[in-house]
Amino acid sequence: MPTIHWFRRDLRLADNPALALAAKSATADGDVLGVFVLDPALLGPSGAPRLAVLFRTLRALDDQLGGRLVVRHGKPAVVLPKLAKEIAAESVHCAADFGPYGHRRDDEVAEALPVPLVHSGSAYAVDPGEVRKGNGTPFQVYSPFYRSWHDHGWSTPHRAPRVDWHGAESDPIPDDPRLPDGLDLPAVGEAAAKKAWKTFKDKGLRDYAGSRDRPDLDATSRMSVHLKWGTIHPRTLLADLGPADEVYRKELAWREFYADVLFHRPDSARAYYSADLKGLHYADGAELSARLSAWQHGQTGYPIVDAGMRQLLAEGWMHNRLRMIVASFLVKDLHVEWTHGARHFLAHLVDGDLASNNHGWQWVAGTGTDAAPYFRIFNPILQGKKFDPDGDYVRRWVPELNHLPSRVIHEPWSDPNGAPAGYPEPIVDHFAERDAALADYQRVKRSR
Ligand SMILES: Cc1cc2nc3c(=O)[nH]c(=O)nc-3n(C[C@H](O)[C@H](O)[C@H](O)COP(=O)(O)OP(=O)(O)OC[C@H]3O[C@@H](n4cnc5c(N)ncnc54)[C@H](O)[C@@H]3O)c2cc1C
Repeated sequence: MPTIHWFRRDLRLADNPALALAAKSATADGDVLGVFVLDPALLGPSGAPRLAVLFRTLRALDDQLGGRLVVRHGKPAVVLPKLAKEIAAESVHCAADFGPYGHRRDDEVAEALPVPLVHSGSAYAVDPGEVRKGNGTPFQVYSPFYRSWHDHGWSTPHRAPRVDWHGAESDPIPDDPRLPDGLDLPAVGEAAAKKAWKTFKDKGLRDYAGSRDRPDLDATSRMSVHLKWGTIHPRTLLADLGPADEVYRKELAWREFYADVLFHRPDSARAYYSADLKGLHYADGAELSARLSAWQHGQTGYPIVDAGMRQLLAEGWMHNRLRMIVASFLVKDLHVEWTHGARHFLAHLVDGDLASNNHGWQWVAGTGTDAAPYFRIFNPILQGKKFDPDGDYVRRWVPELNHLPSRVIHEPWSDPNGAPAGYPEPIVDHFAERDAALADYQRVKRSR
């Protein structure tokens, strides 16, 4: 009898324990039906760039399955029982999902299925919830989490199983949604993920520790989009790392840490992880709309902030240093609550991930686990000078400033020839807003 492998965030064949078990469990001349469910609850909040990446990845997977990937629209708790009956499946296999929605959905599916729903593996090297403090409680601070996670270890990657794919009627994989003009999306799918990793491993990994903070050098791996959709598993990356690659391993561990945090505190996806800063004053009404719009469109008058925001719109991706700078600017200079920024990121990022994104935002806002102290406020001019010393990153994304020498590119208002035409004046005075943010912080602290 056939089994079903339900693809979710594991759109690959290699090192896929759930798929391997589905193949092993198919009895006699049984084979495996691979299905992806286009669930409106997940498609709704995804922006066009992430949807396009998903649909392209599904097309690549369908090619790997010889055109036998089954795609169905609808609620998984309705689609999967129907499909299981249709092909008289013996069991349904999938990787575990530890996110709040995924967890609930899987319970509903298990309840509705006439056959077992079997979970194996997850999108992480170590499953969320697995690593705990000596007293059994979850880690709230990254560094000790990292040590325990590293000591716990993970298995080596498994080969792709031999599978006979069982076809069934399929909805077409949707065409790409309408994308913003000029949007430059990465190549996706399992082969593209492997190629991207090989290129980075051969050419970028050695210099990663020294260059990863420099957006002008484009020296990071850009594996986030592949990890998001599981076209490669973190085990495969970790297996290639040696003792000298500790910095890269630690970055992968941040992703695992935030998934662990979300597992223990599912409410922290939307609500403040720590309620200490709940009473801060934030912009609202027309002021909120105007500030948010200037930030979203890269029109704040602070070149490094605008470059980051424009990269997000142009590529559906932003360098990590920039994610921190623009998030700090939104929350502490423009006094806009982090939830607005997190939503904008999730609408545009091709790697948009609830755990990494919303906890990354909370870290910057000072409301998260292990958060940056609230009083550490990024100075957008100094950040620009330090991490984009020649201004090349700004010139790439803010062409109005192309002609400026490096000396003034991060503070164009100080150019002796006058502020450049067509580029906005700074939307706020960083130093005044920094003082205002600190004063508000002191007020909230005193009131506790
Ligand atoms: C405000 C904010 C929002 C973010 N939103 C997301 C998001 O939606 N999705 C996402 O994958 N990452 C997010 N990050 C983390 C990080 O910015 C990206 O993972 C990284 O920029 C992706 O580029 P890369 O693959 O070249 O990273 P590399 O530097 O090459 O790192 C390798 C991998 O390590 C992981 N990683 C690195 N830094 C972090 C981090 N701080 N937190 C979690 N994982 C990390 C990612 O999986 C990444 O692909 C966010 C960070 C901040 C500050």
